[in-house]
Amino acid sequence: MGPGRSAERAIAAAEAHGAHNYHPLPVVVASAEGAWMTDVAGRRYLDLLAGYSALNFGHRNRRLIEAAKAQLDRVTLTSRAFHHDRFGAFCSELAELCGMEMVLPMNTGAEAMETAVKTARKWGYRIKGVPDGRARIIAAANNFHGRTTTLISFSTDSEARADHGPFTPGFSIVPYGDLAAMAATLDAAPEETVAVLLEPIQGEAGVVVPPPGYLTGVRELTRERNVLFIADEIQSGLGRTGTTFACEHEGVVPDVYVLGKALGGGVVPVSAVVSSREVLGVHRPGEHGSTFGGNPLACAVALEVIAMVRTGEFQRHSATLGERLHRELGLLRGKGVQEVRGRGLWAGVDIDPSRGTGRQISERLMDRGVLVKDTHGATIRIAPPLVISEEDLAWGLDQLRTVLAE
Ligand SMILES: *Cc1c(COP(=O)(O)O)cnc(C)c1O
Repeated sequence: MGPGRSAERAIAAAEAHGAHNYHPLPVVVASAEGAWMTDVAGRRYLDLLAGYSALNFGHRNRRLIEAAKAQLDRVTLTSRAFHHDRFGAFCSELAELCGMEMVLPMNTGAEAMETAVKTARKWGYRIKGVPDGRARIIAAANNFHGRTTTLISFSTDSEARADHGPFTPGFSIVPYGDLAAMAATLDAAPEETVAVLLEPIQGEAGVVVPPPGYLTGVRELTRERNVLFIADEIQSGLGRTGTTFACEHEGVVPDVYVLGKALGGGVVPVSAVVSSREVLGVHRPGEHGSTFGGNPLACAVALEVIAMVRTGEFQRHSATLGERLHRELGLLRGKGVQEVRGRGLWAGVDIDPSRGTGRQISERLMDRGVLVKDTHGATIRIAPPLVISEEDLAWGLDQLRTVLAE
């Protein structure tokens, strides 16, 4: 079934006047609820992408929409030039959820990552005693931390970097999951290294889980060398993997969490850097900021997100349904699937090239009413809203089995 007339018009306008920095599937969404989206022609689709985990609590979650509506009727924006009555609660409750002391709110994930980089450098100069201009940060190959010029400066994705230079210096890249390489790179300049920056599971790389012991090893190496361990949990955090944070799978507590995506409940962009007083205490008035960061609407929605995460119910649901997801995907190995990775309700599925590219599989799933996103040619990602029912998940997997058998 092709897109209808009104969908065609919407797509044509987007093609003509929207920059082509994305290649969306030809579906035009008009409304959504829970794990389902409806297009302009009234066709329903099961959402197995969940806005790259920004929609962990489902589309238009009732609690989040009510929190947003109540706040819309009071005050939406003050700027940080003044206090507002949701800010203190947001900071203290998010810090508590993370087992940390301080919060620096921003809007998008990339902004929070930029903030983490600036914070680590400042901590290096003011606390660790790194000579001026020498701070170095270690990141992993195949990382994804966002799209700003500095963040792509340590990306290894040539598409993300192409024609965007010159780049920001001060970063070293190590292979992800290789503890010996991490130790060697740290020891090449331990006095100048201020941070190791990692996704505890690499999302955009195809849901890559590091070998057991890696995060624990990085934690030990960084602690011994007075280097900050910054965990980018923008996509992996807030329930996605069956725990509040993906670092918990190894019992690791980083020095800094970077959060985004689900923190805004799929309603507003909310991101944050969460850390100790020693680390975030380095910022002084005027040295960093954001007009919208920590605004009343963002804080009201995020406070409700924090309350929902605190119940543990989304983590439990993700862990339980995630077992079923990975069991059933595992059975597809050799039947159109080459490899499956992930944790909880999060999977990277490498498609056997003989069955088509990731894009072709995504298009065929769309025709059957299931929305997923391909990555790196041969991989599809499955990351449904954590509110998905077991029946809906089973139905979605049926569609995948059918498409792979065609
Ligand atoms: C999405 C993502 C980001 C960037 O977030 P934006 O809100 O798109 O800027 C950073 N890190 C990780 C791990 C992400 O998945």
